[in-house]
Amino acid sequence: NNSDCSPILESLNEYQRHAVISDPNQACLVLAGPGSGKTRVLTHRVAYLVKKHNVSPYRILAVTFTNKAAEEMKKRVAELLGIKFSPAWAQDGGPRLALGTFHSISARILRKHGSETGITSDFVICDTSDTRQLISRLLKNEQGSTPDYSSISEAVAAISKLKNDRDGQLEKFWPRRVWRRINELRNLYDKELRAMNHLDFDDLLLETRKLLQTSERVRGTLQETYEHVLVDEWQDTNHVQFDIVSLLSAKHENLFVVGDADQSIYKFRGADSGNLERFMEEFPNAAKIALEENYRSSGCIVAAAQAVIEGNTDRPSKKMTTVNDFGAKVILRETLDDRQESQYVVSTVKSLLRENSLRSYSDVAILYRTNAQSRLIEEAFIQNDIPYRLLSGTKFYDRQEIRDLVAYLRVLSNPADDTAFRRIVNTPPRGIGKKTQEEFEQFCLERQVPLVLGLSELLKLYTNGDVSDGAIGMGRAATQKLAGFADMLSKLQKRSESFLSDEEPSPGSDCVDTLLTAIIEEVGYRDYVEKREGNGSAASEKVLERLGNIEELVRASSRFSSLHRYLEGVTLMVDTMHKGAGNADNGSSDRASASLMTLHGGKGLEFGAVFIIGAEDSVIPISRGAKGDIEEERRLLYVGMTRAKEHLQITWRAKKLVLQGGKAFSRESSGPSRFLDDIPAELVTRIVTPSSSNRRSNHTHSPARRRGKHKTGRLSSQLASLSLEVEGPVTQWRAGDSVRCGEHGRGTVTIGGPATEGGAWIEVMFADGSRHFVNTIAQNVELL
Ligand code: ATP
Ligand code: MG
Repeated sequence: NNSDCSPILESLNEYQRHAVISDPNQACLVLAGPGSGKTRVLTHRVAYLVKKHNVSPYRILAVTFTNKAAEEMKKRVAELLGIKFSPAWAQDGGPRLALGTFHSISARILRKHGSETGITSDFVICDTSDTRQLISRLLKNEQGSTPDYSSISEAVAAISKLKNDRDGQLEKFWPRRVWRRINELRNLYDKELRAMNHLDFDDLLLETRKLLQTSERVRGTLQETYEHVLVDEWQDTNHVQFDIVSLLSAKHENLFVVGDADQSIYKFRGADSGNLERFMEEFPNAAKIALEENYRSSGCIVAAAQAVIEGNTDRPSKKMTTVNDFGAKVILRETLDDRQESQYVVSTVKSLLRENSLRSYSDVAILYRTNAQSRLIEEAFIQNDIPYRLLSGTKFYDRQEIRDLVAYLRVLSNPADDTAFRRIVNTPPRGIGKKTQEEFEQFCLERQVPLVLGLSELLKLYTNGDVSDGAIGMGRAATQKLAGFADMLSKLQKRSESFLSDEEPSPGSDCVDTLLTAIIEEVGYRDYVEKREGNGSAASEKVLERLGNIEELVRASSRFSSLHRYLEGVTLMVDTMHKGAGNADNGSSDRASASLMTLHGGKGLEFGAVFIIGAEDSVIPISRGAKGDIEEERRLLYVGMTRAKEHLQITWRAKKLVLQGGKAFSRESSGPSRFLDDIPAELVTRIVTPSSSNRRSNHTHSPARRRGKHKTGRLSSQLASLSLEVEGPVTQWRAGDSVRCGEHGRGTVTIGGPATEGGAWIEVMFADGSRHFVNTIAQNVELL
């Protein structure tokens, strides 16, 4: 075939081309580091098979890690071939390409062929909270009492483990009694799922494997159909996925996989890094290709990332060079606390754009270890009109638990807030059903009072015993439930009184966080989260995440002593978020936006500038566990660092708000991640806050130099030009100082701080009442 393949091959280096054109009838494993073009090779290989070898796209199966990656890859293949693929559901006879995640592909196979093993095509994919509910019910039957949260989680996880068990290992490994019990539970669970025609996530893969193993016809058909199977991110597949791939490609053995052992970050979900070796065992004749050139990142970033990953002992040695210039140094930046951290990110992003170091906000990514860490960055971006989208999860103030708790505060601050009342009246569930709610609304309507006031009237009637059946249009039981709620609400109202005044608080008075904590306890919100939340084998992750969000909310409210002020801030935030600035991800706005995501979510992606925030030693590594866990955390940081093309900044906080007995305290943090110590000094610009530079000054720096605090200039270029750590405080900005700020005019310092060469970060209240965190250098702040 002499079709012109040059568009497919010309933009590849020698080794990449070698991989793309390698024998189409031979298995192939491409093992290479980040940014070396693995995904590009996979994409071009698909196009090449079609163009050069006349393989019908219909005969190719490609597996990616996310649905989004699948979309992008499909688009790219179409471009390379100059054709358009029909969507999977279209019946137009146009070319189609089976490209998706393991789960989506398994679901498709089962809908089409599952009847052979008794799976009807209309099965429902089981929601993870369904799983928990079901398990909870089964446990209750078994033990006669309602199971607590953790025993449900344990059972869910154990069942998932058992379902995915390889060759009955667990039967030998677990104590006999445990194994028996879990096995029994699993059988009941599976039986119920079948009865409802449900498949959970494990089932999708397991049933597909079973189908391929037991039905010769289906296996034959699919092996015939999928002449070529290609898989991206191979290092994060589990053994069931391996089996599926291996069954599908058993006939042609045309399996093409790409991966990088150093980027394996899903072991906690059962990914099996042994799949790399298993591949070589099962396909001993496979071609093995390494790519050594990194096209993505600057020389400095590649070297820094390399230094970090070399701290792992358990890894194959691998060379990595880059075609790119050395570029800017990696910036390691300690900030005082998390507000300063997010302000630092904001001003650095803005300077990078101003200096044309970045083209648009879409070149920026902020990465963090846990989802709860997104709140401060979201707030700072909203306040500074930086459009952003969240790649993983819901925007902070849209999260269910946050909305619920804020609704409680709203009811306490404003008894006329019926919307908020409706949200909380039965959240957490307290038996006040739809009908009761309707009757109660009628009761209030007749008396022309808002719901909260109606509730106190009802309570009065109830305590006076004036509620014989039907007398107020409501049954006795319903009235009783409402009265219980009213009672609790009135307790909280008393508790909230001191927060409702708008007068200047006396020093040391309580802040909104104590009220929030009281609410959480009084209504049993934590229990509710734990009971309601369920996520299959990842259940506890999800609960931890929600509890983390709640803690984050409590922390955030610890700066306010007035409930009104606090809610005003939240409302404005939510409003702006929905009107535009922060809401570019709903497709309605095409403003380029910055991306916020977890380190896990960054897999496979790349950005001009990457900020890894909250990189304290207690956050990454998050686990204090076994060596293997620490190594996985190190790989996670490595994955994060290698997302950056030109600018990489890693920040951590010197001080951290911690919660204790429901109150937020400022505490010294655990210091920077230990992994950062492995980056050679010549690759980084390390900037620490004055307090900690004092702490460490004995061994690291020369004595403090005195600098003027009114120096102006671009923050980022100043930061970039600093090659030493910044030393001790040079001037002090104090609360109460009158200042003038270039952007905002006159104001008074509310939170002061020591100035450094990078400029002090201080909070200023301006004449119009607004408060902003400003950098004294970048925003040209002068003392009056
Ligand atoms: P990761 O391990 O992070 O998934 P990867 O190995 O899949 O990385 P790609 O995403 O395929 O790497 O490539 C990284 C970047 O380098 C992409 O922007 C890609 O377009 C570019 N690139 C890859 N190979 C070349 C090449 N030969 N010439 C120019 N650019 C290239
Ligand atoms: Mg890739």
